[in-house]
Amino acid sequence: NTYTFQEVMQYVMENDVKFIRLAFCDIFGTQKNISIMPRELSRAFREGISIDASSIRGFANANRSDLLLFPEPSTLSVLPWRPSQGRVVRFFCDIKYPDGTPFECDARQVLRQAQSDMKKLGYSVKIGTECEFYLLKQDEEGLPTKTPHDNASYMDIAPLDKGENVRRQICLTLEEMNLRPEASHHETGPGQNEIDFAYDSAVTAADNLITFRGVVKTMASVNGLYASFLPKIYRDHPGNGLHINLSLFQNGENVFHGEGDGHSPVAESFMMGILTRCYEMSAFLNPLVNSYERLGVYEAPRYITWSHQNRSQLIRIPAAHGVNNRMELRSPDPCANPYLAFSLLIRAGMEGIRRELKLCDPCNLNLYDVPASMVREYDCLPNTLMEAIRAAQDSTFVREALPEKILDAYLSAKTSEWRRYSDAQDKSSVIDSLYFY
Ligand code: GLU
Ligand code: MG
Ligand code: MG
Repeated sequence: NTYTFQEVMQYVMENDVKFIRLAFCDIFGTQKNISIMPRELSRAFREGISIDASSIRGFANANRSDLLLFPEPSTLSVLPWRPSQGRVVRFFCDIKYPDGTPFECDARQVLRQAQSDMKKLGYSVKIGTECEFYLLKQDEEGLPTKTPHDNASYMDIAPLDKGENVRRQICLTLEEMNLRPEASHHETGPGQNEIDFAYDSAVTAADNLITFRGVVKTMASVNGLYASFLPKIYRDHPGNGLHINLSLFQNGENVFHGEGDGHSPVAESFMMGILTRCYEMSAFLNPLVNSYERLGVYEAPRYITWSHQNRSQLIRIPAAHGVNNRMELRSPDPCANPYLAFSLLIRAGMEGIRRELKLCDPCNLNLYDVPASMVREYDCLPNTLMEAIRAAQDSTFVREALPEKILDAYLSAKTSEWRRYSDAQDKSSVIDSLYFY
């Protein structure tokens, strides 16, 4: 369902809508919103609703502090957990300066540009995410504890699995928001869960992930639990991954597939583009100090390799036919800003296609099981956030892919996070303060 301006106005009138949330994200992918009353809506579409940029992290270096939010009619969605009398709906917005020029730190518009440049090259990118999270018990104040909701493991069933009702509510809520959940299960870690929903074009896929994270947090809290997307909560259990599935379409057909079992030349170049630039963009795929604790253990990749066969690799090509043909990138984690992550992946893939890069050989080793001497020939992802920040700073690719304002604000915030961690006497207390993710 997508709505035009007229349809939106009609929907608001006919469905007892009383509050309209204008949503946007800061440069770290944290969702923000302001609520307006229905009679303000047509003004919002015409003139925008003003916000104070200087109070949004990463927006503050804007030359002028007044910014305007313009709701995008096609993103209308009801918030099903709010009252059904006096409903609440939500729009994602474009952010502009008062003179109408787009705001440089609006990552959503950055992604829209990447998506349309890819179109000019002849392809539309489809993106599907698989997002993992932990359900934790919360204390009396609604803050997360370190105790998982259950002790179940991969695909366990009730009563071991105590997450079934929360997953049920998440899936039903997503459907009411037109998100098309496809599958849900208990993941390997205690209290760890995963829900997958349908792929879509890049901007919608990023919007959907933002919606998804909000729904998961809200449904957990309705059930007296805390949902955490922190990449590595328990050292001795798997981390939270955000697998990103990418494919290319032309005239409505998936062109990732090639002869027999293989992939098309364009898919190979696209993947090679991503393999080539993945190291440099890691600060955006793995944004926290804690992100780097996850990589290299428990099915999260460390080496820059690909394979059909196993999950220790950075890129896996799942067994899939027809429209589902795709590559799965396994390093990103759920704390990434999807607008920036997808922009970089699309730009890297485009570069691969333009340069007609040849895909390197697959690595059909299980990288967790082989001796170190055998993996020495492979390049590694960054070992720390600081290494990733430096790689991004030194990368002409990243500089060209993202607006300077975003890049500078993002990397300087990340550098402070790194400092705070590396200067801390008690490192675990710094990580403890991140459970709210
Ligand atoms: N939890 C693993 C990770 O951190 C992924 C497990 C899976 O393949 O679903 O990436
Ligand atoms: Mg999983
Ligand atoms: Mg996966």
